[in-house]
Amino acid sequence: MLNIGCHLSISKGFAHIGIEAKSIGANTFQFFTRNPQGGKAKELDSADVEKYNSYASENGFAPIVAHAPYTLNPCSDNPQTREFAQMVFADDLRRMSKIPHNYYNFHPGSHVGQGIEKGIEMIVDLLNSVMQQDQNTTVLLETMSGKGSEVGAEFNQLAEIISGVRLKEKMGVCLDTCHIFAAGYDIVHDLDSVMTEFDKNIGLSRLKAVHLNDSLMPFASHKDRHAKIGEGEIGQEALIRFINHPTVRKLPFILETPNDLDGYEKEIALMRKNYTA
Ligand code: FE
Ligand code: FE
Ligand code: ZN
Repeated sequence: MLNIGCHLSISKGFAHIGIEAKSIGANTFQFFTRNPQGGKAKELDSADVEKYNSYASENGFAPIVAHAPYTLNPCSDNPQTREFAQMVFADDLRRMSKIPHNYYNFHPGSHVGQGIEKGIEMIVDLLNSVMQQDQNTTVLLETMSGKGSEVGAEFNQLAEIISGVRLKEKMGVCLDTCHIFAAGYDIVHDLDSVMTEFDKNIGLSRLKAVHLNDSLMPFASHKDRHAKIGEGEIGQEALIRFINHPTVRKLPFILETPNDLDGYEKEIALMRKNYTA
């Protein structure tokens, strides 16, 4: 079975989001751990989370993906911004322990002119300071488009981050189809080679989740604009080939396309219909 869902809001709680996800044909979803501006997060309500956990197992849900706020930048040149990133990251990992065996995805960061190597070093430092031996959450680095001074637009940069982290067994990668296409990985014409390159650099066993998006911006544009499935430069056919690729087909797929619930429901149905069992 295809594991697919979309980005949803947890403002009404986890039990609610599980039912909402199922109502649109999803068996996974992604949520922001706190508002994207990164303010103080609400404590997770244990009873609500318990309800979700049993609903999810009864309904065959795949692992879910928590997304860190976009403002979190572990490799800022401002020490206060880095400190804030560390505080948010540690707090999110602590809160995630109530929903065990799921993923915490974050954008590696923007080095703001300090250079890729310096950026990678700071990201590694953050991870080594916040990750705990007993955490039950796998941390995912998201593949980026390379806009501005983003770190993580090349597979080797993600590999370098992972190699610097002490608790490597708790590290993985979330592949964003829009981002890697914009970064210059041709998943439309040469998917096999892209996945071979991923495997050579990072290792396919690190690949834990996919953000399934079309791209408004052209190949290798280094611009990050998501499009609905079939309304971008990647196209419906290539995205269908993608979900069926042997290297990714069992993973949770999360739509981050510009849609309301109705639109998500249609895209989920479209992908399910075109998934070869
Ligand atoms: Fe993201
Ligand atoms: Fe994404
Ligand atoms: Zn994006």
